[in-house]
Amino acid sequence: MSTTSTEESKMTRETQETLLEVDDLKTYYEDGGLLNSNPVKAVDGVSFEITRGETLGLVGESGCGKSTLGRTLMRLEEATAGEVKLNGTDITTLSGADLKQFRNDVQMVFQDPDSSLNERMTVGEIIREPLDVHDWKTPDERRARVRELLETVGLQEEHYYRYPHQFSGGQRQRIGIARALALEPEFIILDEPVSALDVSVQAKILNLLEDLQNEFGLTYLFIAHDLAVVRHICDRVAVMYLGNIMEIGPADEMFESPANPYTHALLSSIPEPDPTVARDRITLRGTPPSPRDPPAGCPFSTRCPVKIRPDQYTDLDDDVWERIEVFREVLRERSRAELSLSDRVRKLIGRETVQAGMDDTLTELFGGLSVPVSVMDHLKEAADYAENGDEDAARAYLREEFGSVCDSERPDQLGVGDRGRLSLCHRHDEQYDEPAAVFETLVQ
Ligand code: SF4
Repeated sequence: MSTTSTEESKMTRETQETLLEVDDLKTYYEDGGLLNSNPVKAVDGVSFEITRGETLGLVGESGCGKSTLGRTLMRLEEATAGEVKLNGTDITTLSGADLKQFRNDVQMVFQDPDSSLNERMTVGEIIREPLDVHDWKTPDERRARVRELLETVGLQEEHYYRYPHQFSGGQRQRIGIARALALEPEFIILDEPVSALDVSVQAKILNLLEDLQNEFGLTYLFIAHDLAVVRHICDRVAVMYLGNIMEIGPADEMFESPANPYTHALLSSIPEPDPTVARDRITLRGTPPSPRDPPAGCPFSTRCPVKIRPDQYTDLDDDVWERIEVFREVLRERSRAELSLSDRVRKLIGRETVQAGMDDTLTELFGGLSVPVSVMDHLKEAADYAENGDEDAARAYLREEFGSVCDSERPDQLGVGDRGRLSLCHRHDEQYDEPAAVFETLVQ
């Protein structure tokens, strides 16, 4: 947890051993479609490490793949590709006794204490269940272990024979934590462990997690959407978007000066506790693309406010450029809607779905703006394709004319600063302006 200074934290990370190594991990869900398979790319090639005793936060909007990533690390979902090494052993291929041992070493605490506890079992039975499943020592020793765990998480011995419904939300989460600790794991995945709790109870559970980490040397992956909680509890943070890690690095540094455009936008959405402090809010255009059809280049390219422009358009009026991006988004949405089964069938048998209203869309978007004639010609050309039912050609035309490296090439994770921070963005390449510098010009 973030109790050490910046320098101490850096030195500690350099000297600590790696517990978990994730390399190019992918988790895809096949849709079982009859026509052609188009998998959901829930986790689309993520790589990171966690050192022993560290808390890594995993944040992102709902649907970004963070819970699927946690479940894949737990082997509750099967990885499609890539490696996950715990203490040097790839766990994606474990089976039999090795898998059983792995399930000792890694545990998970779930978001909703209500649905993760069996209402028909007593608290003692719930906490003891993993010990029974793993045939841990003698029955007497198991009962003693449960009593010890009750005390460890701040419950009382007499709670052993009570049922989950007799407890508050915070107490039920304590039961979930006691159960996760039963087999003395070294790594715990906390999937939104305080999201369902009142703020005052959240603080108590977070303190408990912190105390347990110090006492037992635990390593945490802390999945959350509440950035304030993550800032409080995590040493490092990984920011996910559309199945990718956009930025990963020390929590203090990332919250103070986000490097990646997506992190920048995400952090700007945190309410500022002091109303007198002005904060530059960045409102993102549109919604994330479907994980079935992610962008070919940067995952964030369809919404990025500081996307790199092609050279011939660097001086184009910002409002016109923004509307071009919105027009591209409109076409993507039409394409997405078109992917219904009936429309796909119509397309496959050569009957086009007639779409109309492109002229209205252009007028709506560009009316009142001073659009250079050559730019308008390109927009009309694309609109004609769409008008004739060929959204793909319209999108391709606009990508060809207005697209940049952000649309066509997936960025590498590039180093930022000297504390191991990595960010997935072409703008960290020295031939472009850094994202932070471009954001500054946008909010002026
Ligand atoms: S690579 Fe381009 S689209 Fe992606 S975050 Fe960087 S500037 Fe934005």
